[in-house]
Amino acid sequence: MAVTIDGKTYQIGISQYEPIVGKSTIDELRLLASKLSGKVIQNVNSTFTGGGVAEILSRMVPLLQQLGVDARWNIIRGNDAFYQVTKKFHNALHGRKEEITAADFSLFREVSEKNMAVLDQQGDIFFIHDPQPVMLINRKKEQGKKWAWRCHIDISQPDPAVWQFLEPFVVQYDAAVFSAPAFSRELPIRQFLISPSIDPLSDKNRELPQETIDSVLAKYNVPQDKPIITQVSRFDYLKDPVGVIKAFEMVRKSVDCRLVLAGGTATDDPESDKVLAEVREKAGKNPDIHVLLIPPDSNIEINAFQRASTVVLQKSLREGFGLTVAEALWKAKPVVASAVGGITLQIQNKFTGLTSHGIEGTAFALKQLLSNPDYARWLGENGREHVRYNFLITRHIRDYLLLFLAMEHPGDIITL
Ligand code: UDP
Repeated sequence: MAVTIDGKTYQIGISQYEPIVGKSTIDELRLLASKLSGKVIQNVNSTFTGGGVAEILSRMVPLLQQLGVDARWNIIRGNDAFYQVTKKFHNALHGRKEEITAADFSLFREVSEKNMAVLDQQGDIFFIHDPQPVMLINRKKEQGKKWAWRCHIDISQPDPAVWQFLEPFVVQYDAAVFSAPAFSRELPIRQFLISPSIDPLSDKNRELPQETIDSVLAKYNVPQDKPIITQVSRFDYLKDPVGVIKAFEMVRKSVDCRLVLAGGTATDDPESDKVLAEVREKAGKNPDIHVLLIPPDSNIEINAFQRASTVVLQKSLREGFGLTVAEALWKAKPVVASAVGGITLQIQNKFTGLTSHGIEGTAFALKQLLSNPDYARWLGENGREHVRYNFLITRHIRDYLLLFLAMEHPGDIITL
């Protein structure tokens, strides 16, 4: 079946997932979805491309449609100044110090009000993702219906000023959804815990022929003559790309290897050009460091970089979930990642990968994996099974269908 969203056509068949997760899982999804037949689920976030939220919605929405649920996806619109503010909110909610002024809060209100005026009215459940569109809840009074706020970030230690601003909006929702218990806050509304997922059949994760991998690496001038360490991430301070280079330089003193830092920009992220410039300066002319600016929709390219890697790195300083970790684990790659946010759900240290602390700790873990290929392979294989059981899109769809049913039928016992 072909589904078109934002001008792009997706060929989707839910039964294609049966060989990966089993028939009973797919039967259950069909059964749950049949109870939501005809319901409109209106998803709203702030970008169609770039970052984990857009990544998930681009796979989730067509699959829900294929299951017969009328899932839709719209975005709010803002100018650069608005995204400067929402980026500051994002950083501050993750606990980073940001100067946020009264003018910033007014701009947020002003742009949100414009978006409230043009919100697509249709929806039985309004599923609002992350802080940028949170104020859309002001439409609930006249709109009615059910509203859920899906928070993809770790707000366990937010900057109080930003949280005090957002909380009055959040508490008007019928429910809040967090990725993990540790990310949530005490709220007077229902809370659901649903971790994100990856799609094993997307271009980013499906099996690739070796020729495709080779041609992508050749296109980006990355020789495969020695071990490759890769981090795929938007150029963002919280992904610590400069720290990645420092750790690599320590590893490179004793192990001959290359570093690939691949990433692009997101339309709702105004900081990336500055970060990229700093990364390029730090990389200098080192021929073993490949800083690659990749266009949006580089799914096969990212897949190829991850598959060509000896070790995948995710040295984030803060993280919501860290889809890139699940993507690498699904490819049975050994992963070194900081023990922050949702990474700790994915990497059980010394079993599904290695968690690391700081630059020296990261360098140490990288060296350990580069010099122990059997151990690295064992971690990668465990990681793939951990993702199969916990972080594939079929589990995620099931959780969302149950969430929608629970919202439509509060207090009911749902019988299957
Ligand atoms: N990604 C991408 N292009 C890039 C950088 C990242 O498509 O230039 C993808 C990456 O493969 C993953 C998602 O965007 O699927 C990033 O999600 P993650 O949770 O790792 O981080 P976020 O960007 O949401 O903070």
